[in-house]
Amino acid sequence: MATSPTAPAKARAKTAGAAAPATPGASRELSPPQKALIKMGLTRDIDLALHLPLRYEDETRITLLRNARDGDTVQIEATVVKSEITLRPRRQLVVTVEDESGSCELRFFSFYPSHQKTLAVGALLRVRGEIKGGFWGRQMLHPAFRLAGGELPTALTPIYPTVAQLPQPYLRRAVQSGLMRADLSETIPAPVLQGIDFLRLSDLRSALSFLHHPTPDVSLAALEDHSHPAWQRLKAEELLAQQLSQLESKRERARLRAPALKPLHQRGVLSLHEQLLAVLPFALTAAQRRVCEEIAGDLARGVPMHRLLQGDVGSGKTVVAALAAAICIDAGWQCALMAPTEILAEQHFGKLVGWLEPLLAPLGKQVAWLAGAQKKKERTAALALVESGEAALVVGTHAVIQEQVKFKNLALALIDEQHRFGVAQRLALRSKLDDGSGREPHLLMMSATPIPRTLAMSYYADLDVSTIDELPPGRTPIVTKLVSDSRRDEVVARIADQIAQGRQVYWVCPLIEESEALDLSNATATHADLSDALPGVLVGLLHSRMPTAEKKAVMDLFTRGEMGVLVSTTVIEVGVDVPNASLMVIEHAERFGLSQLHQLRGRVGRGAAASACVLLYATNESGRLGETARERLRAMAETADGFEIARRDLEIRGPGEFLGARQSGAPLLRFADLATDTVLLDWAREAAPVMLDQYPVQARLHVGRWLGGKSEYLKA
Ligand code: ADP
Ligand code: MG
Repeated sequence: MATSPTAPAKARAKTAGAAAPATPGASRELSPPQKALIKMGLTRDIDLALHLPLRYEDETRITLLRNARDGDTVQIEATVVKSEITLRPRRQLVVTVEDESGSCELRFFSFYPSHQKTLAVGALLRVRGEIKGGFWGRQMLHPAFRLAGGELPTALTPIYPTVAQLPQPYLRRAVQSGLMRADLSETIPAPVLQGIDFLRLSDLRSALSFLHHPTPDVSLAALEDHSHPAWQRLKAEELLAQQLSQLESKRERARLRAPALKPLHQRGVLSLHEQLLAVLPFALTAAQRRVCEEIAGDLARGVPMHRLLQGDVGSGKTVVAALAAAICIDAGWQCALMAPTEILAEQHFGKLVGWLEPLLAPLGKQVAWLAGAQKKKERTAALALVESGEAALVVGTHAVIQEQVKFKNLALALIDEQHRFGVAQRLALRSKLDDGSGREPHLLMMSATPIPRTLAMSYYADLDVSTIDELPPGRTPIVTKLVSDSRRDEVVARIADQIAQGRQVYWVCPLIEESEALDLSNATATHADLSDALPGVLVGLLHSRMPTAEKKAVMDLFTRGEMGVLVSTTVIEVGVDVPNASLMVIEHAERFGLSQLHQLRGRVGRGAAASACVLLYATNESGRLGETARERLRAMAETADGFEIARRDLEIRGPGEFLGARQSGAPLLRFADLATDTVLLDWAREAAPVMLDQYPVQARLHVGRWLGGKSEYLKA
């Protein structure tokens, strides 16, 4: 380490200590590459060892110039015969080299004196770059070069993903020493590996050594498509780590306690659950009955339920939630329902009050409302109801989980559109049963974005899943049409037609990511246009910046059927339920994501009337749609099945975006690909319980190695 030649060591230590007592290592300032390593998360030896090359360069061979063709990337060994700086067409260093078979010009537009020195006439060089066989003979632009000599490497040279502050050679050395130092001992016992033959072809250490430095005879295709046994081993290890960590959290949860919510069966007295069933204007579908039973089964146990209730838009999840709430309340406990937007929470509140309040009133209980934009007085009153327990059910937005909200005895939390909430919010809910008993409330998470099977088996392996796979009867399928923006007039005519039949229409305005202000101006303009084009029709406008009271007023008019057309930004995306609406127009549909389009479409087709969804799209100057936009719109036109949509969405977007909030901060699979690695996933699912039961030490080592401190995120 460099030391200052001026001050004596003792004095220096004293001043440093006085100036910065908390930084004893201040003199060991990190270098830019060290900082870059940390920023890239390459801190532990194992992280470095798992930092795999993007591609490889073959420096194991020397190519004769005669055999190098235009466009080949080659390594040559040649002697400098001429070296000069020319000024035209611009300043450059031009070096001519020759081997026994031919000659080549090396051109450098930026160079240092040290380069010139190495490239002096007479020097024998090893040069690597792309050959250009132009009119002026062979050339290489800015090739890599060094003095020849030394053995040729026997393995391919790895090229790692990196950043500007971290030069390839530095990173290569860091990875290499990480690879040497990391503990790569076998964690998967032989019997567990039994299932799949090719997994035994390679252990972690040899797989990694190979992938960092493959021998030149390897099939580059097998490296690229990750089908090589070394890759298979790596992917299997990763999937196993994920399954282990999820299974572990599932088992940890099984050790937790929750209130056992048993339905009351008193003779001659109908339970709240039964009373609610009796007042509903419809009979449950078979699928609803099945999931209700699954939920009731969980609630009756003294272990916290963590269940995901998935069902397509309009499949009737709300009533299932209400029935679960009834069981909870009947058992003498409180229930909370949280929704991501105020509009949606409000709508649930309306529905639940309608269904439950008449049944609660005789018991001296009620439904309370909590939201951010609430008047102080109302809020204080609501908080008091929640704390005293008089509010048997609390409905609201994120406000429900805030610090100040004290429940008397919360036993069940219902989370609508769970993907809109993060890990922290679920954790907060879990700590809301604060009665000193160490128990946690049950969680029921609802989602209208069905999770494809492979995702459910991997990322959601710690949750139980209930699926409503059937829509209530009497729905007519929604007809989806793709219409070019140039035919807007026809769409407006169609709106007029629907209104004349007493129906209502949604018009959703485009999402302009860069600017909320633009979104708004667009919606305002459309609102004005439609108002002009549809005289005598009440056209409303809804956007997220409106004051809550105004939003509510607009929504009420639309819900009551007094407003014919509702122009809105995407605030109506989730959950809004107005069965009389029969036409959904989505402007600039090409800008929306697939699951969002499906959600929006699900706002219509909720009653018996034939419904339609018009996807208005605009093309670019050359009259075309982007590739993924076209795929999305095609998927929308081809299917109305939420599960199929989810599957295609996963295909188009990959799991990263699909998972959204659940994965914020949590590790995604880096190596395995759920679309292709189902065999490995199945193996990992079977291996995980065996590992945990029979080889707990190895299991812990394995998870720690792969997930480090990140496994906690998976547990919420
Ligand atoms: P989602 O699953 O999208 O949340 P909702 O719970 O909002 O769906 O239900 C959609 C509509 O279907 C609501 O109007 C609801 O009252 C109605 N509904 C729910 N279950 C049934 C059923 N079994 N029969 C008829 N209508 C139902
Ligand atoms: Mg819903």
